[in-house]
Amino acid sequence: MPEIDPTEYEIAALGPKIKDVDDPDEIEAMLELEAAGENRDPVKTLLEDRLEKLTAEDEDIDPSEVDLTELTVADVANLVRDIDDADVLRDVLEREQAGQDRKTAKSRIESRIESIEGSEDEDGDGPAYVPPEEKYPELDHPTSEKRWVEGTVGGTYRDMWVYCETQQGALIDVSREMLGKARRMMDQYNGEATGETDEEAPTQDYGGDEDGAPEEVVAVLIGDGVGELADEAIACGADRVVYHEDERLGRFRHQPYTEIFCHMCRDSEFAFRDYHEPRYTLFPATHNGRDLSALVQGELDSGLASDCSGLYIEDAMISNPAKTGQAGDSKEFERILHMKRPDFSGFEYSTILCIDKPHRDFHPQGGSVIPGSFAVPDPDPEREGEVVEHEMELDESWFSVAVTEYDQLDDGVDLTGHDVVVAMGRGIGDDPTRGIELGLELVDAFEDAAFGLSRGVITSSYSFDGHVEQYVGEDRQIGESGQVVEPEVYVAAGISGAIQHKVGMDESDTIVAVNTDPEADIRDFSDYFVEGDLFEVLPRLTEALESGELATAMQEVSDD
Ligand SMILES: Cc1cc2nc3c(=O)[nH]c(=O)nc-3n(C[C@H](O)[C@H](O)[C@H](O)COP(=O)(O)OP(=O)(O)OC[C@H]3O[C@@H](n4cnc5c(N)ncnc54)[C@H](O)[C@@H]3O)c2cc1C
Repeated sequence: MPEIDPTEYEIAALGPKIKDVDDPDEIEAMLELEAAGENRDPVKTLLEDRLEKLTAEDEDIDPSEVDLTELTVADVANLVRDIDDADVLRDVLEREQAGQDRKTAKSRIESRIESIEGSEDEDGDGPAYVPPEEKYPELDHPTSEKRWVEGTVGGTYRDMWVYCETQQGALIDVSREMLGKARRMMDQYNGEATGETDEEAPTQDYGGDEDGAPEEVVAVLIGDGVGELADEAIACGADRVVYHEDERLGRFRHQPYTEIFCHMCRDSEFAFRDYHEPRYTLFPATHNGRDLSALVQGELDSGLASDCSGLYIEDAMISNPAKTGQAGDSKEFERILHMKRPDFSGFEYSTILCIDKPHRDFHPQGGSVIPGSFAVPDPDPEREGEVVEHEMELDESWFSVAVTEYDQLDDGVDLTGHDVVVAMGRGIGDDPTRGIELGLELVDAFEDAAFGLSRGVITSSYSFDGHVEQYVGEDRQIGESGQVVEPEVYVAAGISGAIQHKVGMDESDTIVAVNTDPEADIRDFSDYFVEGDLFEVLPRLTEALESGELATAMQEVSDD
């Protein structure tokens, strides 16, 4: 019987668990249990993948012994990738020729030999580069007509540009967070870091740009009357503010905002900028920021890492032939923005790099940033910076859609600023209505508490009775795509602790989790972990609060 019974887990919870299982027999036993029980295909695939990885690690293959006729071309490519001895490779090549003589397999082996011994081309540069439009003249792909594809080869790049979103005439928090983070990164980058550094992800010290001149943090403001916010952006870390204001821009509009941002980035007549395009761009991962980031990065023919929560700059050693231009080569790319983002429901982090390739630059290296990922900086009113007004004609056709009427949503539910937040997760699944009631009763027992939810509840298909339905909506969601709260006490009942939830609450002073699973991730960042069923624990907590018992107990704890 394996230690982990897969039938007791959802696939999202099982993934991280089996990463620690190193025994193939254990995984096989889990596969059998799953097949005999729930028999879910995705779970079986997950287990099979893990098994394959473990057995592959176990096999120490001797290339001279391998029977090539039993390998697919992909297997051959994988095999030769790990061989560094050209003679061994030649032996493999001869055996392939004598056997199945597959063209692709032979070319993989030959290119591996070539990458070890060096290219036999006279100039060593490999095959001559033919631009895509010449190579495929029959293709009428729009990209081949874009002005800036051709412009972004061997360009010059500088500075970190931060798009500062505003609402009702004020910078939103994430704009200030990004300015603070950009400041810290560029101070380290320029070798000018004083005091506060990014302990978690320090940026490499380059001593400034390629000529040793410091690079800047450039705040971009677009909207109606946004010039007034320039001083605040500087106080939060910008060296320079570029703003474009127009009364037609009071509301976010895709086209004019994109056109203006891109024009600021690449217009050769825009005086302050003596480089081709920004080196880095940051946008907030808000509704509008996500929209703008994708449009701008697409228009500038670069890439985008969306929803990042970690950033730093350092060199990266890359061996992908699409980037190095030569199979088997490794190449160091300098000044690469490493953009970390949670994936697979937050159980894994990916680091996204936006890297040039031969004959094609990919700049700016851009990402959008999850609100709440970085600290809001203390503004420094003494900081000095330059303010530049950007001007361009705004085409009337960009405003062809007129907003004639709109509904102002209710202010929604503000979960911030309360002493206590009680949040419910999918642990309410056995009786969702009762689960919400219990959470609300606990909220009432505190003097100043708010009621929140994990996204798991909001996206579930639970049906709720009418009297609690009003409490289940996105406006109560806590986390990456919801609100960020920092109460004195955060009660998380039936919440597993996925990263997207964590970023919305882990700055709370005291976190109390109630969960039936002693291994739930939330345990790692809780101050108190109550292993138990929320349907039993919550009423007891409420009762203890109402009777004053909890306050006495807490007082005793703090006296000790
Ligand atoms: C781009 C993106 C953005 C996201 N944004 C957010 C966000 O802002 N906020 C957010 O919350 N999520 C967000 N998510 C979803 C997130 O990844 C998780 O899926 C979600 O947080 C899980 O919710 P949960 O913890 O309630 O459910 P689950 O992960 O299913 O956990 C339920 C927990 O309840 C426990 N439990 C079960 N029964 C009981 C019981 N009777 N008593 C006590 N405990 C019990 C279980 O042991 C389990 O730990 C986002 C995902 C993506 C991809």
